[in-house]
Amino acid sequence: MTAPKALVAGNWKMNGLKAATSEINRLNDLINEKGAKCDVLICPPFTLISTLVDTGAKHVAIGAQDCHMNVSGAHTGDISAEMIKELGCDHIIVGHSERRADHAESNETVKAKAAAAQAQGAIAIICVGETIDEREAGKALDIVTSQVKASIPDDATADNTIIAYEPVWAIGTGKVPTAADVEEVHAAVRDVLIDRFGSAGDNINILYGGSVKASNANELMSVANVNGALVGGASLKADDFYGIISAYDQIG
Ligand code: PEP
Repeated sequence: MTAPKALVAGNWKMNGLKAATSEINRLNDLINEKGAKCDVLICPPFTLISTLVDTGAKHVAIGAQDCHMNVSGAHTGDISAEMIKELGCDHIIVGHSERRADHAESNETVKAKAAAAQAQGAIAIICVGETIDEREAGKALDIVTSQVKASIPDDATADNTIIAYEPVWAIGTGKVPTAADVEEVHAAVRDVLIDRFGSAGDNINILYGGSVKASNANELMSVANVNGALVGGASLKADDFYGIISAYDQIG
């Protein structure tokens, strides 16, 4: 099995004004000077996508945090994958737990959004993860594997699919699962991907997300079947985020 090239992705959530352009420039400069052994992506709010794409930062791809399931139409306030793609984004996050919770997005909705992203030629980063109650009830593996199965579109390929495992209780809390727990979930997700895509399932990035920071990145990113990170808070400042990216300098 050949591991895919790792991806360290930042999710800025509802943070950032135009002044945050300086963070992209700084991040690009850091990677230019010191290198990066993984791909690097920032998903800012929709309002900043064009501004950040226009920086021309060649080491930092810009993506989106969500899209609508339809291409166009009467959906006030929504943004389609076609619109996002036109701005120059190749990655769209779907099914983040904050969207599943705040906007009542079901696996079916997430699947439709992922399909919409992929139909436009974008890579869907499909987020899954259990709540603390589900983990404590011993249901984490069942929940996560059923979310993965139910959220991957029927026409998805291994090339346009990324999974982000983000335990809900680890997001923004400073709590992280043990390496053994991460390994167990990522192995189960890998099995689902291989069942679904055959050997190509080995090449799909499975990101870990939830309170990743420079000080724990090495341990988390070294876990088997962890092929990168989805990072919230620690992606807002270029120097913090570069600390996570540079964890890959030590990982073979
Ligand atoms: C996230 O929102 O995807 C996330 C992982 O956030 P944080 O890194 O802040 O926990």
